[in-house]
Amino acid sequence: MAKRLPYVDSSEPLRFIDFASPIFGADGKLRGVIAAHVLWHWVSNIIKDFLQKNFINQNIEAFVINQKNAVIHPYGSIDKITLPERLPNDGQYQSLVWADQQRYLTAVAKVHSDTATDMGWRVILRLPIDIAFAPVNDLHRSLLMFSTFVTLITGVVAYLLARALSRPVESIARIARSIEKGDENTPIIIESNLREILQLTDAMRGMTNTLLVRKRELEVINRTLEERVRLRTQALLEANQELEHLVRYDVLTGILNRRAFTELLKDEFFRMKRTGHCYAILLIDIDYFKRVNDTYGHDAGDIVLKHVASVLESAIRATDHIARLGGEEFVILLTNTSEGGGEIAAEKIRAAVANSTAPLIGQVTVSIGLAVASTDDEKQEAAVTLADKAMYRAKMTGRNRVVLASNLDS
Ligand code: GH3
Ligand code: MG
Ligand code: MG
Repeated sequence: MAKRLPYVDSSEPLRFIDFASPIFGADGKLRGVIAAHVLWHWVSNIIKDFLQKNFINQNIEAFVINQKNAVIHPYGSIDKITLPERLPNDGQYQSLVWADQQRYLTAVAKVHSDTATDMGWRVILRLPIDIAFAPVNDLHRSLLMFSTFVTLITGVVAYLLARALSRPVESIARIARSIEKGDENTPIIIESNLREILQLTDAMRGMTNTLLVRKRELEVINRTLEERVRLRTQALLEANQELEHLVRYDVLTGILNRRAFTELLKDEFFRMKRTGHCYAILLIDIDYFKRVNDTYGHDAGDIVLKHVASVLESAIRATDHIARLGGEEFVILLTNTSEGGGEIAAEKIRAAVANSTAPLIGQVTVSIGLAVASTDDEKQEAAVTLADKAMYRAKMTGRNRVVLASNLDS
């Protein structure tokens, strides 16, 4: 038989697979048995051929194992390859670590036989996991690279977008703060290509302009108001001063009135009581004044009244006081004055009036009653009453004269 076998240049021992099958006739009777010896080397070549032709990946290793899980093909792997303990089921594949500590994608397929004889052989294919998953790894790597690229690009775009947004917004905030601090001329210029930013800038410019216009209007109104208040206050002050003047001064002659004199007299009376310094009171009445009115008219009478007041005022010292008590009656308080000094002053005053030339009427005279206040006086009016009596006596005794109260009969 050896002669009939093809030449095999291999160190591999000759092995055969024996096939035998009974042959039955049409009548069902056994005719004989057909047997064949298949050279295992030939089977191995068929398997190799098949693998080379059908597997794209040449790294796939194929094993045939028997029912005892022993490798029977290829020859070089017999007793050298130890199978993993648990193999995938028929038709399944799994990632398994083999005895060489390498991980392989491992697939198992049962060798089916149409005959009654099941030899329990299985075909095992294994491919190093790295090679098996190389396309997946490539894809994964590509995916990683792509996602990194996308992340980078997204980052850059996000940064650019943020910068495009944040810079103008920061500028707007800076401008707003500057305007708030009072630098109203800060130009509102923002460089941006973003429509929203430009709209915001426009809105801010509009709002700022409106606010500034309102502020200026308010400032003008404020100034006008302040000026009005100032003018009103001034007017009020002047009115008050005028009122005060009216309360204290006689409108016609401009000298103190009775009311102011009463207050002044009170002060002088108490000063005298304190210091012992006496004062003299001159009560002065224009002679025949009714005639002036009757002859020249009331207005002329007023002019004469002013004339007399003016003469009296210029005839006294700065420390003395003059007032109009009413009608054509005046009073003079000579401070720190004795009767002698008062008499001299009264005579001087009388002469001054008599020697003056009154407007319209020419000469005008006055009658004067003189009284000196005493520290013994109980009331401030005492001296005035006495002076009034003395003045009355002056009228009675011819007018245009001075009468001392001390000379009156008691
Ligand atoms: P006698 O010498 O006795 O004082 O006479 P007389 O005319 O001055 O006295 P009488 O008191 O009778 O007159 C005072 C007049 O003074 C009466 C009044 O018409 C006038 N008279 C009073 N007040 C004013 C005034 O403010 N203006 C004017 N023009 N006349 C006044
Ligand atoms: Mg008179
Ligand atoms: Mg009179």
